[in-house]
Amino acid sequence: MNDYGIDIWSNDNFVIKNGKVCINYGKKPALIDIVKQLRNDGYKGPLLLRFPHLTAKQIARIYGKFAKAKKEFDYKGSFNAVYPLKVNQYPGFVKNLVELGKDYNYGLEAGSKAELLLAMAYNNEHAPITVNGFKDKELINLGFIAREMGHNITLTIEGLNELESIIDIAKERFKPKPNIGLRVRLHSAGVGIWAKSGGINSKFGLTSTELIEAISLLKKANLLEYFTMIHFHLGSQITEIHPLKKALIEAGNIYTELRKMGAKNLKAINLGGGLAVEYSQFKDEKSRNYTLSEYANDVVFILKNIAEQKSDLEPDIFIESGRFVAANHAVLVAPVLELFSQEYTESKLVLKKKNPKLIDELYDLFKSIKPANALEYMHDSIDHVESILTLFDLGYVDLQDRSNAEILVHLIVKKAISLLGDTQNSADFLALQNEVQERYLVNFSLFQSLPDFWGLEQSFPIMPLTHLDKKPTRSASLWDITCDSDGEISYSKHNPLFLHDIDIEKENYFLGFFLVGAYQEVLGMRHNLFPHPTEAVIKIDDKDFEITKIIEAQSVLDTLEDLDYDIHEIMDSLNERVESSKLVNDKQKKQILGELYLFLNDNGYLKSLDV
Ligand SMILES: *Cc1c(COP(=O)(O)O)cnc(C)c1O
Repeated sequence: MNDYGIDIWSNDNFVIKNGKVCINYGKKPALIDIVKQLRNDGYKGPLLLRFPHLTAKQIARIYGKFAKAKKEFDYKGSFNAVYPLKVNQYPGFVKNLVELGKDYNYGLEAGSKAELLLAMAYNNEHAPITVNGFKDKELINLGFIAREMGHNITLTIEGLNELESIIDIAKERFKPKPNIGLRVRLHSAGVGIWAKSGGINSKFGLTSTELIEAISLLKKANLLEYFTMIHFHLGSQITEIHPLKKALIEAGNIYTELRKMGAKNLKAINLGGGLAVEYSQFKDEKSRNYTLSEYANDVVFILKNIAEQKSDLEPDIFIESGRFVAANHAVLVAPVLELFSQEYTESKLVLKKKNPKLIDELYDLFKSIKPANALEYMHDSIDHVESILTLFDLGYVDLQDRSNAEILVHLIVKKAISLLGDTQNSADFLALQNEVQERYLVNFSLFQSLPDFWGLEQSFPIMPLTHLDKKPTRSASLWDITCDSDGEISYSKHNPLFLHDIDIEKENYFLGFFLVGAYQEVLGMRHNLFPHPTEAVIKIDDKDFEITKIIEAQSVLDTLEDLDYDIHEIMDSLNERVESSKLVNDKQKKQILGELYLFLNDNGYLKSLDV
């Protein structure tokens, strides 16, 4: 049996019960039951399910572990966190997050004007706002407005020119001023595929020389009292804790040095984001080498030590982890539409009275395969098929023989896998599976829903929602419905995916893609004009689950309007062309126009295949 590594990546959020994936919370509903209810209400195609209880859990874990670490080390500085909006700005997530974070004073981080305006509208009163990224005068001005509205906001300066803008704007605006943070350029760098934000060559931050200059500029402008925070960010998905420790020591020393230079209100160190998520389904391919407790303890311990050594104040700690907070809240569920080799059943074999010798041999292999010879027969059958394909090219066997060979090799492989039982993890076996993989056509767009798989080869846990009490026997590659050959999650012998041998005509089969709540939605692109999938917020308690806030996938018309098409022009043009068609009569035209209207107002995911 295969549990798809659920103990490794799911953090107890999901469990397998009676062969189904269930949500390990409250009434513990099965994902498939939620999906069925949505589909009964007419929502077909891919579905993005959001679980606010999982967001609540991550927030509580972060504050809880830091509170514990502070207590353990008797740490006097405060702990604060902000959620970086760039990770997921969708209202179905953000509005719940803000509400769930209220009691913790959980704030927001913005990296652009649009995000800052969002934060200014939704942030909990008194909760911190931090602003990072490149800033023009207008963005800085907006930061002043936020402060004037009463927000507790810190503008983090990425370069001296931004500081000069702040000094200019401070002269022009009203009395309240935002707090100022300085992003420091550390010589320690992160590790992992996203580690371009830290380190001496990073895109962001002030060098030591620039820091000294910044202090003197602030002093001269009488703004030093507003300088309250230093900031660094090593990059996303920090896979190892060691570089973070080095960075903290460096930042801790910069903090005490700057305070010595007169920055008396400098009270906080902001460590940015980077807390990693465990995406792996395989024990020996884990994505991180530390736990949240370890992270919290290391941060508090190191900062405490530096303050002690330098006899200085223990700094307030800010973190901006987003992936860790957002990833687990969303699950994408997509229906399998087709197995490409579905038609390879024994009943489709049309053996001749006299077959080519290789076909007879294949048939013998199929009939006499047993556990002891299964691996060997599987090898032999693949060799045979290759020979038959060569013979076909040379004109020695016909299309019927070729079809029989395809069917027989598939039958042999399926039988072999079910016979091999638990011995099926040998490298030999896994490599062989590559040759005989089944292609599953899945009703979703990889570009829209898993863009980091396409762009960065980031893997996400994948598993079927049902059939988990049966052995999955097919090595699987997944094909999305875009017409792009990159829209594929291919079988890999390093992290092999096995799925069930399903007759899609007779039963449904849904795949869950987990941990897709961070970065995927807003990075998703409308390749082939497939829109963001239909989404729903699922609330669960001890009695039941409740589907709330359904937002249906965008219609074709809305998608085209987003691209700045004039949709009236499109409708007029379609109208005119139908009306002027000489191939149909008036009654038929009326019907055609009605059909076009329905297509334009529906989303473009596949429907009739998805029953
Ligand atoms: C992207 C970003 C974050 C969030 O990083 P995660 O890896 O999602 O935790 C935090 N701070 C800054 C400055 C960022 O650019």
